[in-house]
Amino acid sequence: MTIQSVNPTTNKVIKSFTEMTDEQVDKAVTKAASAYENWKNTDYKSRADILHNVAGLLRKKKDVLAKMITSEMGKLLAHAEGEIKLSAEIFDYYASNAENFLADKILHPIHGHALIRNASIGVLLGIEPWNFPFYQVARFAAPNIMIGNTILVKHASIVPQCGIAIQEIFIEAGAPIGLYTNLLISGTRASELVSDKRIKGVSLTGSEAAGASIASVAGKNLKKSVLELGGSDAFIVLDDADMDKTVEWAVTGRINNNGQCCVASKRFIVMQSVADIFLDKFKTKLSQLIVGDPMDSTTQLGPMSSEAAAEMIASQVQKAVDGGATILLGGKRLEREGAFMEPTIITNMLPNNPVYYEELFGPVATFFTVKEEQDAIDLANDSPYGLGGSVFTQDIERGKRVADQIDTGMVFINHPTWTQADLPFGGTKRSGYGRELSELGIVEFVNKKLIRVSELSDPF
Ligand code: NAP
Repeated sequence: MTIQSVNPTTNKVIKSFTEMTDEQVDKAVTKAASAYENWKNTDYKSRADILHNVAGLLRKKKDVLAKMITSEMGKLLAHAEGEIKLSAEIFDYYASNAENFLADKILHPIHGHALIRNASIGVLLGIEPWNFPFYQVARFAAPNIMIGNTILVKHASIVPQCGIAIQEIFIEAGAPIGLYTNLLISGTRASELVSDKRIKGVSLTGSEAAGASIASVAGKNLKKSVLELGGSDAFIVLDDADMDKTVEWAVTGRINNNGQCCVASKRFIVMQSVADIFLDKFKTKLSQLIVGDPMDSTTQLGPMSSEAAAEMIASQVQKAVDGGATILLGGKRLEREGAFMEPTIITNMLPNNPVYYEELFGPVATFFTVKEEQDAIDLANDSPYGLGGSVFTQDIERGKRVADQIDTGMVFINHPTWTQADLPFGGTKRSGYGRELSELGIVEFVNKKLIRVSELSDPF
């Protein structure tokens, strides 16, 4: 298979790559397994030195890397720069905090002494998506490298240059051969790799379908898996919300990353008394967005990540309309070269619409009006997904009360769901299981080993 880097702004091929052969992949796994035998015995400082170097190199090369991201998957250049900065923060965060997070936990049993030691488990496979090509890798690789595990990454096929660049940065940072390896292979071959005895765990960030496939292979082979999957976050607007600021966040929450965030605000659920004013302002702001070349600093909405992604979102909108929904704004591909989709608002979405329970991964908002606070909560929970969500209100206690009843892994009050190194990230329901980032993300792939000390004379 040929793996291609295609610029979605023009749909022109930038570069082609040949997929790795079975022999090359086998060699890479052998190197990762043999690197593990040394890496697991290194001290925290040696591991941290390499991650701090990675962070430094990311900052130094920010301009080149950001342009690479934008040309491969179309995000706004300023956002690509922000992603590199965030990724560097994640590498530094784990380099500085892992020793503390992973310290022995002393237990107090009835007899004698005991402790829990966090031990590494071996070679891990990370399967990563294109939407944040550096950040997604950082949040998987940084904590696991600090534990003493070694890393293989199968990156999304549409961002091969980013995948290769990350491996090169590790090498330049002083990483031993086999500590971090990029695998240029298809999803199907990555899935087969999970059953390789030398691989001890797998983490996938991506779609439900890919997650289910990986979880079944991992289950069959009795391996630990972490899944970070799709979402359909509710953006709840209560009747006391500050309308101007809320609408600003609604626009950002929907169109950030050109509408392609797992935690983008996707379903706008607004209380009836403020619905008209919210919708009027929201529609006006979305219709005024400057859509165009993501390299241009004045652009506010760039292309979708690929022609296939643009076709997919346009066909979902059409399916929603065929199922009875109404288009209030946009609804079509832009008539220009590249993978562009108009900012879109859909109303009259009912549960019997075939798109009602689907994730809309693009600049398409669905809009709902509700009478009561409880109706907003019920509607937010009427989704197979459980990733993030947000509640807008001037009454923080009320916001917390609503947040408490929303069945997702993350709820933000007065902000769209977002991420930083020291906050846990992950979902429930069909959004997956396990957590990345913060002190929770570092204990997914560890052996929590009990070490028990007894007196020879202790009873059995
Ligand atoms: P995707 O098609 O599932 O791709 C994600 C990764 O999985 C890619 O590396 C892909 O490789 C690989 N893959 C695809 N099918 C596979 C299979 N059967 N076995 C093994 N690997 C497979 O997802 P996407 O459409 O690119 O990304 C968007 C989805 O990711 C959305 O649903 C979004 O919400 C979700 N996402 C979730 C999070 C989170 O943290 N919860 C974060 C970001 C994105 P190829 O590229 O070679 O197909």
